[in-house]
Amino acid sequence: MRSAKRERIVLSTAVLMAAAIIIAGALIIYAGMINRHLIEEVNERGEQISERNEFLIEEEMKEQMNILMEISERITASGTLDMEREMSELKSINERHAFKRMVIALPDGTAYTTDDLEMDLSKREFFQRSMQGENFISGRLADYADGKDIIVFSVPIYLNDQVEGVVLASYSVQTMQKMLSVLTSEECDSYVVDDEGGIVVSSIINDTTDYDSQDIHAVLSRFGENSRDEKKMQKDIQQKKAGSIILEGKEETYVHYLSLGMNDWYIVNVISSEHLNSDRDYLMGTTYLLVAAVVFVFILFIAYIMGAEKKKRQKMEQLMNVDELTGGNTYLHFCDIAEEKLKHTDKKAALISMDIQNFKLINEMYGNQEGDRVLRYLYQFWENWVREDELFGRRIADRFFVLAFYDTPEEMLKRIEDFIEHVKNDNPQERKGHVFRPKLGVYLIPDNQEDFLHMQTNVIMAHAEAKKSSHAAYIIYNDQIKSINLRNKELEDEIEQAYEKREFIIYYQPKYDTKTKQIIGAEALIRWKKPDGTILTPYVFIPAAEQSGFIVKLDEYVFEMVCSQLREWSRKGKKLVPVSVNLSREHLREEDFIEKYAQIRSQKQIPEESIELEITESAIFQNPEKLLEIVNRLHNLGFRILMDDFGTGYSSLMMLGKVPVDVMKLDKSFIDGYEDDKGEKILVSTIRLAQSLDIGVTAEGVETEEQYKFLKELNCDVIQGYYFAKPMPAEEFEKMLEEN
Ligand code: C2E
Ligand code: CA
Ligand code: CA
Repeated sequence: MRSAKRERIVLSTAVLMAAAIIIAGALIIYAGMINRHLIEEVNERGEQISERNEFLIEEEMKEQMNILMEISERITASGTLDMEREMSELKSINERHAFKRMVIALPDGTAYTTDDLEMDLSKREFFQRSMQGENFISGRLADYADGKDIIVFSVPIYLNDQVEGVVLASYSVQTMQKMLSVLTSEECDSYVVDDEGGIVVSSIINDTTDYDSQDIHAVLSRFGENSRDEKKMQKDIQQKKAGSIILEGKEETYVHYLSLGMNDWYIVNVISSEHLNSDRDYLMGTTYLLVAAVVFVFILFIAYIMGAEKKKRQKMEQLMNVDELTGGNTYLHFCDIAEEKLKHTDKKAALISMDIQNFKLINEMYGNQEGDRVLRYLYQFWENWVREDELFGRRIADRFFVLAFYDTPEEMLKRIEDFIEHVKNDNPQERKGHVFRPKLGVYLIPDNQEDFLHMQTNVIMAHAEAKKSSHAAYIIYNDQIKSINLRNKELEDEIEQAYEKREFIIYYQPKYDTKTKQIIGAEALIRWKKPDGTILTPYVFIPAAEQSGFIVKLDEYVFEMVCSQLREWSRKGKKLVPVSVNLSREHLREEDFIEKYAQIRSQKQIPEESIELEITESAIFQNPEKLLEIVNRLHNLGFRILMDDFGTGYSSLMMLGKVPVDVMKLDKSFIDGYEDDKGEKILVSTIRLAQSLDIGVTAEGVETEEQYKFLKELNCDVIQGYYFAKPMPAEEFEKMLEEN
């Protein structure tokens, strides 16, 4: 049992852990999915920012270029290059734009600037390119005038389809930077880079970095490393492809690059995860928090359930193991421990079953509360009796089971006899006038490894024997008991067979009017007539028939036979006297026997008053309410009811008032007992009580003249006994009736 419990705990913990792991796993996978999704989103967003920046920068560059192209076209359209007019025109244009200066250069490289400088540009690449007809944007250059970083836009001037000059605008890198920073999004640093990775301009204002000595790769290396991705980027840029990489440093940095569509330039956008990830961090943070919360709540929930389960189990165990009434072991628990104990000891052991003979009566007469008190009282006896390693438990009502150990059988029996003495005689105040007649079955276990069920069967058999015995307080199990029990089993089968073969016959014992000595009735008593002619008394087979339940059928058979007999007598014109038929207490369980009996009676056309029913007094205590109901129903159908065996065992005068019987049959033992003083008093007052309740009195087992006279004096109505006549076959009774 204990290992089963441990198994259960291990199992439930395993299930719990598995569930927690599965939930946590699922949530982590979910979080991972969210994370991946967010990274994708961040990337996409980076790309969008990148594209927008690229577009804006490209537009801006084109815008600048357009200004120069318009100037060039206008000059072409005018057909001549009038320097003085163009310079003043340029000056006014430049005021509206952010160029550092604007320039017109003549084919030999002589250049005139809007800030009135004159310089030779013949060696400059942008000049040469535009002279060859190209619209050109230079890389980062040092200004001739002041050495500051500039970018130059240059456009050829055509006159008569010949390049006759170049219009230029130089842009300070600083202004470009300002422009870039205004144009581009805050979250993102943008770099315009040439195809070798050299930085042309960045969007970072006040950037003090010396770009001449740094290319974009050097810049990026500040954010983190990802040599594989950076190689990819280098390659992509050479092949004019767009793409993105992620640098892993303190934070992740997303780098998007895109060809600018002019000058082989690239725009490289650098977005720190700091910006992009705030959303992601927030989302991931709440997701993980949620995961933690769910797991926590789940664990709490399971802990609660397990706690509740445990409590419930403990309560169940308590209910199953602890006898609520006495606080001792239940029978179930007793069996569990006893079995275990026996398995692990070589000590000689005895199994004892005990109850007291009249417990039901106590319960009935004094109420359940008193009954419970008596049980606790009995419990104490056992508690004092058992030794440290011994144990006992209560089954139902006053039935106790005990496991005890001993060295010699004599010693064990001495202990048992002591116990019986104590129960009978100890504590006169506490027993409150109750007389306790303990009955014990004892099984001296020959082999502790024997099947426990077998031990229980044996002790119960011994106990049953003790209960049957009129004098023995305890019976020790022996093989004879077993053979008796086996015999009973055989008997049960034989009875059924005898019934089929109609071996049961009916004897009639006359009942006499005490005063007139006339036969005024009879009792039907069953006999078993064996094929060899021997006649068996009911004492031999009725207990077995009661045991198997077959008695119900047997009683019905007797009732039917008696009805047939009465029918025959009445057909013969005989005078009928009422015949009483015995009803076993087993009938209390049969609901429909009443209707069946009434039906048989009317079928045989027997007058109501000609057949009566005897119920045993002991039936009352099995179920008084049920008995009352049955008696009432029988009365309604016109049956007279005789209470049999009054005065044996469970006698309760009070019950006489509760169950409305018509006749009380005083048991033979009652009549025999009148000789002593106390017995006489009881007999006298019982008859008086019956008379005062209008209940007829029949005395049974009257054997002597003395008894007859005494009963006559007491006004007992009817006498049945060997003094007048023994039970006899129907024909004999018929003759007696005629002579009557
Ligand atoms: P019971 O119902 O108390 O029947 C009276 C018993 O006392 C009968 O024993 C009867 O022969 C015996 N008896 C009558 N007068 C005297 C007497 O003066 N001295 C002595 N010593 N005995 C006397 P019997 O016929 O052996 O029946 C024994 C018991 O078997 C009955 O006791 C009854 O309880 C049961 N029984 C008999 N027939 C039936 C039956 O058809 N159905 C049921 N359920 N039980 C039956
Ligand atoms: Ca009877
Ligand atoms: Ca009787």
